[in-house]
Amino acid sequence: MQGLMMDYQLTLDRILKHAQRMFPHKQVSTKLPDGTLHRYTYANFAQRTKRLANILRQLGVQKGDRVGTFAWNNYQHLELYYAIPGCGAVCHTLNIRLFPDQLAWIINHAEDKVVFIDGTLLPAFERIALQLNTVQHYVLFNADRRTETQLPNVVFYEDLMAEADDDFSWAVDDEQTAMGLCYTSGTTGDPKGVLYSHRSMMLHTFGENQASALGLTEEDVVLPVVPMFHAMAWGLPYSCTMAGADIVMPGPHMTPAALADLIAEEHVTVAAGVPTIWTGLYHELKARPRDISSIRALVVGGSAMPRGLIEAYEKELGVNVVHAWGMTEMSPLGTLSKLQSHHRHLPDHEKWDIKARQGYALAGVEMRIVNMDGETLPWDGVTMGELQVRGPWIAKSYYKVPPGPEHFTADGWFRTGDVATITSDGYMCITDRTKDLVKSGGEWISSVALENALMAHERVMEAAVIATPDARWGERPLAVVVLTPSAGAVTVAELLEHLAQSFAKFQAPDRIVFASEIPKTSVGKFDKKVLRHRYAEGELG
Ligand code: AMP
Repeated sequence: MQGLMMDYQLTLDRILKHAQRMFPHKQVSTKLPDGTLHRYTYANFAQRTKRLANILRQLGVQKGDRVGTFAWNNYQHLELYYAIPGCGAVCHTLNIRLFPDQLAWIINHAEDKVVFIDGTLLPAFERIALQLNTVQHYVLFNADRRTETQLPNVVFYEDLMAEADDDFSWAVDDEQTAMGLCYTSGTTGDPKGVLYSHRSMMLHTFGENQASALGLTEEDVVLPVVPMFHAMAWGLPYSCTMAGADIVMPGPHMTPAALADLIAEEHVTVAAGVPTIWTGLYHELKARPRDISSIRALVVGGSAMPRGLIEAYEKELGVNVVHAWGMTEMSPLGTLSKLQSHHRHLPDHEKWDIKARQGYALAGVEMRIVNMDGETLPWDGVTMGELQVRGPWIAKSYYKVPPGPEHFTADGWFRTGDVATITSDGYMCITDRTKDLVKSGGEWISSVALENALMAHERVMEAAVIATPDARWGERPLAVVVLTPSAGAVTVAELLEHLAQSFAKFQAPDRIVFASEIPKTSVGKFDKKVLRHRYAEGELG
């Protein structure tokens, strides 16, 4: 027997209509390139989004067309996040930090028809213009009419906006319609496109707004530092509007000082970004304190948040850290590490241990760990296995690539490529990427555990561990360490002594080298490919 409930399609225009109806007075604020703050209300935002949908039609964008965005986090980008899917097209967010050839490859692969470009990023884009095969129009914003450019077919966002019609009927009636496209950062092989649907993004938005997840409300003031070109800014553009939260966006002003000012001035309650951002902010706040007591959740994901940094934020600055894990393929939110009622009695240091884990799955996401033979492993907090997930906002295939067993299992799970343990109460902990584990003498050594321990040392700001080839053991760990700016000297022997408190001798790195910085990928993760090249495969030998 079938249920008798409405077949109400989960399309994203419903969020916008709700926000416009319920929260017309709520604000979207953006730091503009010149440092001033642009503010407008949800009512203005909704109206401009309809105008933008008409502009897209004028430019010939049809249902299913891909439309690229090359921009910082700002209000125009938010308008694009709604207008492009709202007229049935696909919002393809382009990573502004990619190497030119990779960016051109992605645009050609996606066959973008129109690209919207932030004027502050024009020179970076112009470099690849000649390589692009499919783009018919470029639309510039944050740029005035006198801007000179070598791009062909350029139009200006605000010119079009001034003349566009206010009325637009949202054009999607099938929730399975594609709405967004984001390529993974691709540390191996070509980048892979993840194609979200209205339904998957709507369910992700509901999932993210569960009270046990981010649970945003109209009382929140949310600062997405995580870029809108990285995994849909963790879904925040949609979950904020659904909840009616005020949104604050940094534009190109991403320095720790600018972020600290923004948090203090705008009374931000929820801020979200990768660990590197929060490392920088912590040192900024120590050097020049600001009042950031408005923050109820400092959300961190994309890479492991070092336990030492969680402790520093909570103990020294009184800031509640919410560690989250996800993947572009998961829209992206998968787990969160908030404390539960049975943790209330624990001493602080144990609470921070729990927060350093990646946490429990959101309702809607299922996870399991399996061994190399595909057998499901126990949730005992110790047994490590490959993490696999399934759920309504998780990819079942990559764009234009037939699903293969290296990414998707025969019984319908996505292989994350992460290695994890899960405790009996459901807290997952990533111990490594499958390809980053150090395999020494038949034992696995977790590079992440070593990094966390090193970063817990007061003089260490960042540490990355890689495997180096070893004739006797197969592989041995090597640590690259960056000291805090104010640190006095620290010796390798002192760091090894520090590690000896929690690691067996065979697990400790054979070599520790000091560096001025750790190379990062375009989305701010340690770039171990570069480190391996530098230290394991040759530059240092
Ligand atoms: P991306 O699709 O670029 O967001 O990368 C997803 C990958 O980032 C995951 O498979 C993890 O390896 C890593 N990652 C994301 N969040 C975390 C986290 N909180 N801790 C450790 N690794 C993370």
